[in-house]
Amino acid sequence: MSVIALPHQDQKMAEIIEKVRNGVRLSLEDGVYLYESDDLLTIGQLANEANLKKNGKKVYFIENMSLYFTNVCESYCAFCNFRKDEGEEGAYTLSGPEMIDYVEQHIHPGVREFHIVGGHNNHVPFQYYVDSLKALNERFPEVTLKAYTAAEIEFFSRLSGLSIKEVLQKLQQAGLKSLTGGGAEILSDQYRQKMKVDKANVDQYLEVHRTAHKLGMKTHTTMLYGSIESHEDRIRHMIQIRELQDETGGFMVFIPLSMQPKNKNASIMRRNSAYEDLKTIAISRLMLDNIDHIKAYFINIGTQLTQMALTFGASDVHGTILKERISHAAGAVTPEGLTRKELIWLIKGAGRIPVERDTFYNEIQVFE
Ligand code: SF4
Repeated sequence: MSVIALPHQDQKMAEIIEKVRNGVRLSLEDGVYLYESDDLLTIGQLANEANLKKNGKKVYFIENMSLYFTNVCESYCAFCNFRKDEGEEGAYTLSGPEMIDYVEQHIHPGVREFHIVGGHNNHVPFQYYVDSLKALNERFPEVTLKAYTAAEIEFFSRLSGLSIKEVLQKLQQAGLKSLTGGGAEILSDQYRQKMKVDKANVDQYLEVHRTAHKLGMKTHTTMLYGSIESHEDRIRHMIQIRELQDETGGFMVFIPLSMQPKNKNASIMRRNSAYEDLKTIAISRLMLDNIDHIKAYFINIGTQLTQMALTFGASDVHGTILKERISHAAGAVTPEGLTRKELIWLIKGAGRIPVERDTFYNEIQVFE
């Protein structure tokens, strides 16, 4: 591995390099400095060093399938193109048996995870969401249920009158094994107000994950970047995740989600640049020293940039997905899923070692 020469001509960058190499945690000021620097290659190389130290050349993927029980939603987040009102053209709510029919038609041997998210549909009771998981779990007991965002869990709590803990326990009894990372957007109440993030606030997002971790669940977490937020907002977001991780150790992966540009209501003028996407992956790797994996999500940044991201700190490329709907509704122009062969090709093409994993990063097969 090549090493960045020190002293770096930029004194502040030299200090950051020393800190990372000596395992000293980066501050808010350091993170903002990295974002304001145009030295992408040094930042990327440093993130690459940090990732190689944690994961070597291994890059993880899973055979999974995305499922969306309902797109009916009581909320109106400004950036969302997925949601529908009840009765609107294209609105749907699948029953457990209807979802099982869909899965039976599309599943293939090897799928080991269902990734389930959806709208906040208040036209059905909380029991609907419990029964949906239960039906899937009974029909496909070998497939891990990674379901619902922290925002959905907070919505279920309001819908049912149960506490967050009680909601999670009922879902666990129905087969829930892990939460998805969505709903974080940018963890700033001011941002959430401006962007009409019409769901769980910052404290509630963090509290749902904290409670899930205390109940023994490992979970995922995200950051939706590329609209009105400042660099400082992004770094503060990462630091809040880092602090919760210090407390619980329950996050397995951090997923920077590049905002998709279709919804003009959300002041999103254009797609993020490749430069911004790579920098965000690299800075995430450097700031989140206590989370094992940073994910490059090909749905939002494309397959070729995902390959590049693997030398900028990323160690996970998500999974086969099959048919992604939320980012595509928001304007993604990428494939809606990839086959296992394509994922292996993607990782090998970047000079890394593909590792098929389960939801919890246990290794299933290493493709040397
Ligand atoms: S982002 Fe989620 S909560 Fe917000 S409108 Fe879309 S589906 Fe509803």
